Amino acid sequence: MRIYRTDAFPMPLPPGHRFPAEKYAMLAQAVAAFAADRLDVAPAATPQELMLAHDPDYVRQALDGSLSAARQKAIGLPWSPELAERSRRSVGATIAAARSALLYGCGVNLAGGTHHALRDQGGGFCVFNDIAVTALLTLREGLARRVLALDLDVHQGNGTAAILRAEPRAFTFSMHGARNYPFEREAGDWDIDLPDGTGDADYLARLDEALPALFQRAAPDLVLYLAGADPYRGDRLGRLALSRAALAERDRLVMETCLRRQTAIAIVMAGGYAQPIDDTVAIHTETVRLACSLFAGDD
Ligand SMILES: [Zn+2]
Repeated sequence: MRIYRTDAFPMPLPPGHRFPAEKYAMLAQAVAAFAADRLDVAPAATPQELMLAHDPDYVRQALDGSLSAARQKAIGLPWSPELAERSRRSVGATIAAARSALLYGCGVNLAGGTHHALRDQGGGFCVFNDIAVTALLTLREGLARRVLALDLDVHQGNGTAAILRAEPRAFTFSMHGARNYPFEREAGDWDIDLPDGTGDADYLARLDEALPALFQRAAPDLVLYLAGADPYRGDRLGRLALSRAALAERDRLVMETCLRRQTAIAIVMAGGYAQPIDDTVAIHTETVRLACSLFAGDD
């Protein structure tokens, strides 16, 4: 089982920017304490791979910095050559994690989950949609026959839903805060809206109830799991009220379902905006630690 890091490719941000860029290096350091031998530097996705999910003009402009000011503003991250490289690595890490999953049962991207990127437009800190690219690539290569995007980030996976809508072999599931960004939704195959302040018991009951039906409907042989840390009660953007213990239980429910059904799972971190940032890092670290304890040993 392999774990891919992108923190060697940071994006320059102005002081006080609300994107928590420092979480990635902190997370890689925490994971290295128990899984150093599994860590690899993420490869860069090629423009051709990105074009499986994105408009060719958009890919070119996002990579060479010629996006319009309005399109750049929607992404929310200032363009730089470093941002372009980082965005390629983040998608490459999810592709690599999926390849690891198909070989060993599981793979992890310590970044990724950029689910707000649409075919020809980024948004919400997302330049390219790693989930859509990876789903379409693995289907095209015949590595998977059916792919499930299982999105438990607290924000709806609008980009993934829109891009994969035309692909019947991909199923998109998103469970998220009803009043959160994005305010213009794209209907996925199955969306669950949760009210503000949803707590541990209600959240876990909804998930536990949904998972058997979800796996039956989607019938995946590859799951792309967005283990967002932002349903956490200490998150600044999340509006939900989950404890760290409940987030760990959420991860366990998803991973054990995959194990039981012998379905490959690639895990990406997606969002997390807690203050202090250490809480977000701790939640992501527990996700990776659980994946190692459940899936390591098969390789
Ligand atoms: Zn999010």
